[in-house]
Amino acid sequence: MVLSGAELSKKIKESTKEEISALKAEGITPALRCVVSSADRSTDVYLNSIKKNCEKLGIDFAKVVTDGEHIIEDVKKLNDDKKISGIMIMHPVPQGVNEIAVLESLNPLKDVEGRTPQNLGKVLLGVESFTPCTAQAVMELLDYYKVDLKGANVTIVGRSTTVGKPLSLMMLSKDATVTVCHSKTRDLKEKTKNADVLIAAVGKAKMFDAEWVKEGAVVIDVGINVVNGKVVGDVDFESVSQKASVSKVPGGVGSVTSAILMRNVVKAAQLNNQ
Ligand code: NAP
Repeated sequence: MVLSGAELSKKIKESTKEEISALKAEGITPALRCVVSSADRSTDVYLNSIKKNCEKLGIDFAKVVTDGEHIIEDVKKLNDDKKISGIMIMHPVPQGVNEIAVLESLNPLKDVEGRTPQNLGKVLLGVESFTPCTAQAVMELLDYYKVDLKGANVTIVGRSTTVGKPLSLMMLSKDATVTVCHSKTRDLKEKTKNADVLIAAVGKAKMFDAEWVKEGAVVIDVGINVVNGKVVGDVDFESVSQKASVSKVPGGVGSVTSAILMRNVVKAAQLNNQ
C-alpha cells in the first residue's frame, strides 16, 4: 500500500478554511509572521511554499527580516502585536546567536511550530500543546491509515528536536515500543529490520532499500532530498514498496506537515483572541 498525504492534507485544509471563515466573520484575520535572520536558499524555497498556502486559505502572511542583534527584540514586538496570531523563527539563525534563547523569547501561544521549551515540555508530559508539525504529521498519517501503534516495534532513524525526539515521545504515548537511532547507532540494519513501523528521518537520499525493511512493515519517509533537481525521500520507494507499505515523497508527510502548520496558525488566532 502507498500512504499518500494528499487526502488527509486536503481534509485538514478544508476544515481550516471553515475555521478561517468563522474567524473572519468575527473580524479576525489569522496572521503568520516568519522571522528571517540569515540568508539561506532552502529557507527561501520553504517560505514561498508557506506563503502560497497562506494565500490560498486567506491567512495574512509576511516575512520579517531581522539580524542576530535585533532578533529577540523583533520576536517580542510580534508577541505583543495583537494582530499577529503565529510566529515562525526560521532556521538557521546567524552564527553566534543562541537559538534556544531566541525560542525562549517566543510566546508559546504563538509558537505554531511547537519549538519553544514550553511546548516541547508539554509533549514530554503528554499535555495538549502546539506540537512540532512534522512529528504531528507522521502521527496523523499513521492514524489516518489506521496503523495500530499499541505494542508495535517502532524504529525511528533520526533524533532531531523537530522530528525524531518529539516523535519518539508521541509514539510512546500511543503505547509503541520505540527505538531511536542516529549516526552513532551500531547495527542499524538490525534495528530497522525488526521494526513493524519504520520512520526514516535522516536526510540521505534513498538510504533505505528493501534489505533494511521487514516484510509487511509500515514505512514513513520523512526525508526530503534534492537529487538532480528531483525531490526524493530517504527511502528507495521502488524497492521498499515491493514488501512494505510506504509513504510517498513528495506528497506524503510533507503535504500533511504544511496543512498542520496552517491549522496551527488558525488555532493560535483562536487562542490569542479568547
Ligand atoms: P537533522 O537535524 O539533520 O537530523 C538528521 C538525523 O539523522 C540526526 O539525528 C543524525 O544523527 C541522523 N543520521 C544522519 N546520518 C545517519 C546515518 N548514516 N545513519 C543513521 N542516522 C543518521 O535532520 P531533520 O531536520 O530531522 O530532517 C531529517 C530529514 O527530514 C531531512 O531530509 C529533512 O529535509 C526532512 N524533513 C522533512 C520535513 C517534512 O515536512 N516532510 C520536515 C522536516 C525535515 P546524529 O544526531 O547522530 O547526527
